[in-house]
Amino acid sequence: MSIENRLYAVRYRVDDKSHLTIRDQAVCQTCPTRACEWFCPADVYAWDEGEGRILVAYENCLECGTCRIACAEHNIEWTYPTGGYGIAYKFG
Ligand code: SF4
Ligand code: SF4
Repeated sequence: MSIENRLYAVRYRVDDKSHLTIRDQAVCQTCPTRACEWFCPADVYAWDEGEGRILVAYENCLECGTCRIACAEHNIEWTYPTGGYGIAYKFG
């Protein structure tokens, strides 16, 4: 099952302001691993070759907190979404 299909089982209330911020895109440009592209279970982070930066699809975030510790450069500012926004599991 694809990540897109799995995310379909999750209901979100999306804020118009991201709760995830890349602190310094210049750090991502020289990042040797771009680990955020594979450690996030919701595929939130993606390197855009044309723009030369990491794109952040914060709307899909599952609030697992992995990116707080898994970016070796500590280059991701992580908070919970503003109260009332974020995920609400459809099943559970
Ligand atoms: S792992 Fe961290 S430093 Fe590397 S590209 Fe992702 S956010 Fe940037
Ligand atoms: S908290 Fe989890 S789901 Fe959200 S962006 Fe970070 S790794 Fe991805």
